[in-house]
Amino acid sequence: MNSSTKQKLDIQKAESSRIGQVDFNNLTFGSTFSDHMFECDYKDGEWQNPTIKPYGPLTISPGAKVFHYGQAVFEGMKAYKDDDGKVWLFRPEENFNRINKSSKRMAIPEFPKDIFFEALTELVKIDKEWVKKGLGNSLYIRPFVMATQVGVSASPSTEYKFMILMSPAQAYYTGDVKVEIAEHYSRSANGGVGAAKAAGNYGAQFFPTNLAREKGFQQVIWTDASKHEYLEEAGTMNVFFRVNDTLLTAPISDRILDGVTRKSVIALAKRDNITVEERPVSVSEIVEAAKNGNLKEIFGAGTAAVISPVSAFSYHDTVYDLEHQDNGFAMRFKKELMDIQHNRSEDPFGWRY
Ligand code: PMP
Repeated sequence: MNSSTKQKLDIQKAESSRIGQVDFNNLTFGSTFSDHMFECDYKDGEWQNPTIKPYGPLTISPGAKVFHYGQAVFEGMKAYKDDDGKVWLFRPEENFNRINKSSKRMAIPEFPKDIFFEALTELVKIDKEWVKKGLGNSLYIRPFVMATQVGVSASPSTEYKFMILMSPAQAYYTGDVKVEIAEHYSRSANGGVGAAKAAGNYGAQFFPTNLAREKGFQQVIWTDASKHEYLEEAGTMNVFFRVNDTLLTAPISDRILDGVTRKSVIALAKRDNITVEERPVSVSEIVEAAKNGNLKEIFGAGTAAVISPVSAFSYHDTVYDLEHQDNGFAMRFKKELMDIQHNRSEDPFGWRY
C-alpha cells in the first residue's frame, strides 16, 4: 500500500478487559497477552485492512506456507511507564527498520512505516493499563509477519499477515549466566540469515542450547561457522568483552543481528570515552585474557534482559570464572539504559518515543 492509498485503521475494542485476571507479580515471560492485537493482511500486492481487535486465536489453513517453509520474521521491543504514568517506547524506529530488513532477506514484502507507527501507538494507548510502573516492568511488544498463502510449493508466498501482540513483562533478574562457547554448532553463516530475525534462526538454536543446559550452561556463545575462532553472539543477545578498560564486540555482519541494545551500549560507552573496538574477537585472545587476569567482564546485551553479566564460560572443557563486578561496565550500562527507558534520567540521544 503506498501512502496515497493508505487505509484507515479499524479499531474493534474488547467488550471487557482480562486485566483483572492477571497476577502481575507472577508473570512468566511472554505467556500472557494484553486485551488487543493488531492484524494487517497482504493480498493482491498490497497491505490492507489494518485492524486492532481483541486478542484471540486465528484461523489459518494448514496449507499456509509459513508452516512448511518457515517464511516468517519478528521483532522484540518494549513499552515502559514512568512514575507519572506516561508510556515510552525505546528507539522503535530501529525495530521498524529491522523488521523490514529481515522481511527483505526472507522475500517478504516490506511493511509501510505509517501504518506500523499508527498501529503501534494506538495499540499501546488502548492497552496502556497493561504497562506497569516500576523499574524493569514493561510491556513486551512482538510484531511479526508470516506467509499465509495456501500451497505447499516451495516458493515465496503471495499473501502475508502482519501482527503485533503485547505481553506484560516483569522486572526480572536472571542472575549471572554461565555460557558455553560453541565448538561444533553454529547459528548463522556467511550469506545466511543470521542478521535477520527469521523465525527459523531461533528454532535452530534450541537443540544446541539444550545440550549446553544439560551441562549446566544457560546460553551458548556462538562462534563463526567456518572455524569457530571468533565470538559472535550470546544466545539471543549481542556480546561484549571487557579486557582491562577496553570494550570489545563483534562487528555487524550478515551473521550477526544488529541489536538496538548493542548500539545503545556502544553510544553510551563512547560518550564516556571508553574505548570500544568493533572487530572480530577471537576465542584465543579471550581465553588468554582470562588466564592472565585481563578479562574483567563478559555481558550479553538485548531487549529482554537489557544486560546479562556472564559469570563463567566454558571452552575445550575448561571453565573460566569471572568475578561479578558490582561497579563494572555491565551494571553501569544496565542502569543507564533502564533509567533512560523509564524516563528517570536525561535522554541525551533522543531515544525515548
Ligand atoms: N542477537 C539476537 C540473535 C537476538 O535475537 C537479539 C534480540 N532481538 C539480540 C541480539 C539483541 O537485539 P536487541 O538489543 O535489539 O534486542
